[in-house]
Amino acid sequence: MKKEITLKNNEFIFTLFKEYYFKNIENLRPPLEMHNREYGIMTFDSRVIRHLSFSKLGNLKAYIIQNVPSDIFCSNAYYQFPTFPINEKGWKGADMIFDIDLNDLLLPCQKEHTFYICSNCHVVFRDLTKICSACQNTKILKNTIPCFRCINALKKETKNLTEFLKKDFGIKEENMEVSFSGNTGFHVVVFQSNYLMLDSKARSDIVGYIMGKNLSPESLGVRNDKHGYRIKIPLSGYSYGWRKRIVQKMKISEVSNDYLNKFIKKIGGYQSFKNEIDKIASDLGLKIDPQVTTDIHRIFRMVGSLNSKSGLSKIICNNLDKFDPMIDSCFFDDDKNVDISLNTPLKFSIKGKKYNLDKSISTVPVSVGVFLISKKLANIASCSS
Ligand SMILES: [Zn+2]
Ligand SMILES: [Zn+2]
Repeated sequence: MKKEITLKNNEFIFTLFKEYYFKNIENLRPPLEMHNREYGIMTFDSRVIRHLSFSKLGNLKAYIIQNVPSDIFCSNAYYQFPTFPINEKGWKGADMIFDIDLNDLLLPCQKEHTFYICSNCHVVFRDLTKICSACQNTKILKNTIPCFRCINALKKETKNLTEFLKKDFGIKEENMEVSFSGNTGFHVVVFQSNYLMLDSKARSDIVGYIMGKNLSPESLGVRNDKHGYRIKIPLSGYSYGWRKRIVQKMKISEVSNDYLNKFIKKIGGYQSFKNEIDKIASDLGLKIDPQVTTDIHRIFRMVGSLNSKSGLSKIICNNLDKFDPMIDSCFFDDDKNVDISLNTPLKFSIKGKKYNLDKSISTVPVSVGVFLISKKLANIASCSS
C-alpha cells in the first residue's frame, strides 16, 4: 500500500480523534483509586508508552488532549508505585476482568462478515490465509463487521455472565461494571473487595468453573469403579451452582439415590450420564477468554477512550438490551460526508441504513468512513462536506 494513502488515512483519523477528545474529554472515566493505577497509550506512529501515572483526573485529561493517542489503557491492578518496572510496582490487588469476544463465540454468521487483510498492502481475502498473495507479507489481520446477530449473541453471553457472577459468586450488581470494548466484545469488571487479592491461579479456577470445565458425574456424587457406579448425593444437595443447572437441564425431579439410580439406568448407564453432563457443560458453559481474566498485570482499554481498531468508543452499558454499538459508541458525524474507496466490495448495515458498496469511490457519512478506515477496509479518497 502506498505510503501517502496510509498517511492520508492516519491524518483523517488523527484529526477526528483529536476533535473527539477536545469535545468529549468528560467521557473519560477514571478507574477507582486512579492514582494507584498504571496508564499506557499507543501513539499514531505505533509506539507503546507504558508505566505512566496520574494522580489527578485533570492531569490525565490534559495529557490526552495534548498527545492524542490512538488508544488509551489503564491497569486492572492497584500499585504502590505505578511508574516503576513491573516487578517493583508493589502490587496491591487487581480488579477481576472478564472478556467476551466475538472470536470466542464461533457464530455461523461470522464468515459472511469476516475479512483477512494484509497488514502491508491491505489487500482483502475472504478466506483465512497465512500469506498475502499480492506482496508475500505474512502478517494478516482479521477484521469483522459484527452484524445484529453477533451483537445480540454477545449481549446474551454478557448477561449470562453477570447472572453467573451474581448467583454463583455472590458478586453484587453495584460491584460490577459492564462495558462495550469499542470493537467486537464486552468487558465485565468486578471490583468487589473480596476478589481483588486473588492471584492468577484462583482467577483461572473461577474462569474454569464459569466455562463449565472439569464437570463430571462425580460433581453430582456419582462415582465409577470396576464394580460399577455408586451414588452418594452431596450433603448440600443440588440446590445451587452447576449441580442445579445440570439437574434442571436433565429434568431430574427428585433428589434421592433411588431416583438417580433409575434415571442413570434409563439413559443407558454411567457413560451416557457422563456424556449428557459434558454436553450440558459445553452448552451452558460461557465462552470467555481465560487469558484476560488470569492476567493480574494487564492494561485495559479505558472507558471513554476510542478504539483505533474501529473508531468506536469504549463505553459503559447500563442497559444491555437497548445497547447498539454503532449508535451509542459512535461519536462521529452523520451529517458530514467523506469520500472513501473500498479495498473490497462490502454489504453491511449501520444505524438501520443498508450499504452495498463496490470498489469505486463512495460518499458515506464521516461516522461510517471512520469505522471502515479503522477496520482497514477502506481508504480516504478526499474530504467533502
Ligand atoms: Zn499484501
Ligand atoms: Zn454476525
